[in-house]
Amino acid sequence: TRRTKISELLKSEQTNIDVHVKGWVRTKRGNKHVNFIALNDGSTINNIQIVADPNSISEDILKKVTTGASIAVNGKLVESQGSGQSVEVHAETIEILGVADPEKYPLQPKKHSFEFLREIAHLRPRTNTFSAVLRMRHAMSFAVHKFFNEKGFNYMHTPIITGSDAEGAGEMFRVTTLDAKNPPLKEDGSVDYSEDFFEKETNLTVSGQLEGELGALAVGEIYTFGPTFRAENSNTTRHLAEFWMIEPEMAFYDLEDNMDLAEEFLKYLVQYALDNCADDLAFLESRLIDEEKNKPANEKSEMTLTEKLRFVAENDFERVTYTDAIDILRNSKPNKKKKFQYPVEGWGTDLQSEHERYLVEKHFKKPVILTNYPKDIKAFYMRMDDDGKTVSAMDILFPGIGEIVGGSQREERLDILMSRMTEMGIPHEEMDWYLDTRRYGTVPHSGFGLGFERLMIFVTGLGNIRDVIPFPRTPGNAEF
Ligand code: ATP
Ligand code: MG
Ligand code: MG
Ligand code: MG
Repeated sequence: TRRTKISELLKSEQTNIDVHVKGWVRTKRGNKHVNFIALNDGSTINNIQIVADPNSISEDILKKVTTGASIAVNGKLVESQGSGQSVEVHAETIEILGVADPEKYPLQPKKHSFEFLREIAHLRPRTNTFSAVLRMRHAMSFAVHKFFNEKGFNYMHTPIITGSDAEGAGEMFRVTTLDAKNPPLKEDGSVDYSEDFFEKETNLTVSGQLEGELGALAVGEIYTFGPTFRAENSNTTRHLAEFWMIEPEMAFYDLEDNMDLAEEFLKYLVQYALDNCADDLAFLESRLIDEEKNKPANEKSEMTLTEKLRFVAENDFERVTYTDAIDILRNSKPNKKKKFQYPVEGWGTDLQSEHERYLVEKHFKKPVILTNYPKDIKAFYMRMDDDGKTVSAMDILFPGIGEIVGGSQREERLDILMSRMTEMGIPHEEMDWYLDTRRYGTVPHSGFGLGFERLMIFVTGLGNIRDVIPFPRTPGNAEF
């Protein structure tokens, strides 16, 4: 028999019908007259209550109905007398599909710390928090495709293994079939790649952008959405070694168009979460409210999770140049309670995440798009501004996150692009394929990258990027 999903049962308008449900036991309570089983099948954060009468279900079976066990239930869906749920299932038969030894099953009904759950990443999707994250990752991925599909963008698959190393020098994961520890060497001491699978040095991609540009300069508008890899040894709550990135690339877009698209996209995604993930959001929000109770008054958040999401979905982002932002930071009063001090070192240095968060959370109190960064702290492909000092870059900064999007108008002028590459020590020969797009029919174009996990941190309200991806890859962590 096919089961009915619990999400469907809880919405059912009909009662007194025969139903068949399967799932994992969350809790069982009761006495010798009646048992209440909270059953979850992952289709929704909500459990269905199974009422089991020891007169009709054997003691042997009921003993095996413990937290974590999987069961199949035949019974009647009836209106619930208890509070908290509208319907419940009165069990006629219960079949044990898989037991879960209560002495050993790690997910007993109590609040587990995130640290503990990261150690049992293989079981944590069985918890409310991580099943909510899993469903919301799906919803947000779907929303990404929906948004771009509605706009006529093409989903383009850029390579995971790349042969170019113009970007991300030092942060790349090497891909090789040679003996990595003891590779064959040429006479001059450099690695001899002639025996390697690709016969050259290859790496895991740090971004699909450069290849994405090739698509945009052929079909107009594309986006990539795939895994990207960075061997950055930064143990922060915002960085992973393997993360998913969404990178649209658009021909005939200038910086302004680029910002408009990115802002519209982010608002769309956040609104999509509000409209389609209400139950999971309500759960995550209640969790946060619990956590907030233990915080000192000055650290308590002014808005609930849904209020934060609504605020972002409904209000325009602030747009400000890097130069103006530096002035704001210089003139801001240092916050003595915090470790860092304003003003920042000065024009020309990259903002640290503390500075980004100050601008967003204290100064503007809304998402900020920072534009026109000094050329020396940005990549070679960003378009040079008329002042010769800044480039048409834009980073979007979010409350509680810092940088969520990085993008720019790309340099479409061959001569300027080539001199930038020379300046930055990038050999032209290696990028000949890229330069061809500027040699033949070049057009103004733009794009950006949105870190999918940073978005997930924002929409779930969770504090650590390790908790918004099923299998976080961080230094020292790749168990499965
Ligand atoms: P950051 O300054 O936070 O290190 P970045 O400037 O190095 O980020 P970009 O190269 O601009 O990152 O990548 C585009 C987007 O990808 C970023 O805005 C961010 O959302 C996301 N991102 C970058 N690095 C990581 C990472 N290690 N883990 C998760 N997301 C990341
Ligand atoms: Mg970085
Ligand atoms: Mg950055
Ligand atoms: Mg960036």
